[in-house]
Amino acid sequence: LTFQGYQQSSVDGSDPWCDQEYDVSEKVTPGVLVIYTGGTIGSRPRDPDPDSPQIVVPWEEFLSHTPEVGRLPFEVDASEEIPPLDSCNVGPSEWSKMAEIIFANYDEYAGFVILHGTDTMVYTASALSFMLRDLAKPVIITGAQRSAMVSTRNDATQNFLTALEIANPAVSRLPVVPEVCIFFGGKLLRGNRAIKIDTSGYEAYETPNIPPLGLAGDRIVINEKIVRPLPDRGRKFSIRTRLDTGVMPIYVSPGIQDTSIAEAQLDTAGLRAAVVLSFGSGNIPTKPEFLEVFRAAREGGVILANVSQCPRGPVEQGIYETSAQLVEAGFVSGNDITIEAAQCKLMVLLGDPDADVEDAELAFQQNLAGEQSTSMFVTKYGKSNGTLDDESPRLRIRGVGVEGRWSPNHVERALVRLHGATITAPPVSDSAREREALKVKKDAPAAPASLETVAFRVFLNLDDSVAQPDLNDPGYAGEFRKWPAASTGLSVFDISSAFRSTVSAGERVSFTIILDTPGATLAWDDADIAVFAKEFDV
Ligand code: ASP
Repeated sequence: LTFQGYQQSSVDGSDPWCDQEYDVSEKVTPGVLVIYTGGTIGSRPRDPDPDSPQIVVPWEEFLSHTPEVGRLPFEVDASEEIPPLDSCNVGPSEWSKMAEIIFANYDEYAGFVILHGTDTMVYTASALSFMLRDLAKPVIITGAQRSAMVSTRNDATQNFLTALEIANPAVSRLPVVPEVCIFFGGKLLRGNRAIKIDTSGYEAYETPNIPPLGLAGDRIVINEKIVRPLPDRGRKFSIRTRLDTGVMPIYVSPGIQDTSIAEAQLDTAGLRAAVVLSFGSGNIPTKPEFLEVFRAAREGGVILANVSQCPRGPVEQGIYETSAQLVEAGFVSGNDITIEAAQCKLMVLLGDPDADVEDAELAFQQNLAGEQSTSMFVTKYGKSNGTLDDESPRLRIRGVGVEGRWSPNHVERALVRLHGATITAPPVSDSAREREALKVKKDAPAAPASLETVAFRVFLNLDDSVAQPDLNDPGYAGEFRKWPAASTGLSVFDISSAFRSTVSAGERVSFTIILDTPGATLAWDDADIAVFAKEFDV
């Protein structure tokens, strides 16, 4: 990690403040409100024996071991409304309390610091990022691996003082970071992107899918390019404090498909969503009986969120056969969200009494608070089943307004997806049959049932009166060759470049599929367009 690219050390280009500049007997307001919740940063051994179990202490005792706070030029107040806890015991009711404290004191302070145990810090950060809406002030969560009450050589004091400075950007001459962040071990991290990677090291957190928002060495430097923008003018800060705790992770590991573990978990009373921790880019075993357990759960109203066990990189459903089947079973993808953020996001989305399962699923696939790099917007076409054959090789699916907030240059991919699709090929030609026979002789892997591929062309917004559309049509999205499928499933047509050049968010778009292989057929149950839009350019 270097400080290169993190040039904006202060908003006006001057050196950040240093103690000597300030008369600390006159404290500047607004200051920072500290929400003290305990954790190692607020713990010491219970008995004089240094090896006795650690206990959390009240704020006053903690503060008496951090006298440096008194040398800061601004007011630092504390809320002790949440009793000091080991963070293993912090959960939705404490998160709601934190949100309420911030809401009640929002106008009085420049920013907020939450002192917290390290164990569940990323859950608290993730939950708050979805609970605090239109946040325009910094909320910085920090803690320590070693407290100042235990040892002079500690990380508590540095973490706390730096968090306080970042939380008061006007005094510290830093850019405003209007986000829920974790500051720890010299790094300012987006809270809902962070994972705890070390049980004892001072650099305990990382954000594997985005760079740090800032670094603190001899100076504090903020990478403004990736900090979330301030809320739009006129939007007022608000909070959501209702969470639904019926969300459970299901850890997929080799062999689980031969057990009833997943079925038992999905059968849990009150379960509303499962965060299915998949392999790699979003794959799980495809044994039909195993997939059926999930399909049945989805039919029963349980949201299935596909989130990778792998900390870096996104889930991309539909790239491999193993995950294409998941789309059909009703899984929604979490892109590159962390496991912890997925859990909290679903709790908050399902806590909304007005949101039904479908609303929560659509929102889950979109970036709400910087928690994922790409949003997926699905536009469903009602009554969009169809069949193509020699009789009618061309079908136009009528235009509807495409969902989402995105600009065309942020569209990574756009797909026409046909669900429950079956492709059949014309009878196998003699030469193909001969080639197949040769392969069989050589003990080669079995060739597909037919060696003929089936060709299609797709057009966007094609005028029905154009009898012979060709690649010069502005809506030409490409030619596609597909193998006839042995079974029904998802069939995907990548229409990205035509989509980018012809469609804007909210506009109506129709698509036309033309079957170009005589004797072949394509039939499907329903269709949608999935748009993948990047949140920012890093
Ligand atoms: N068990 C402690 C907690 O999370 C660990 C820590 O703070 O480092 O509260």
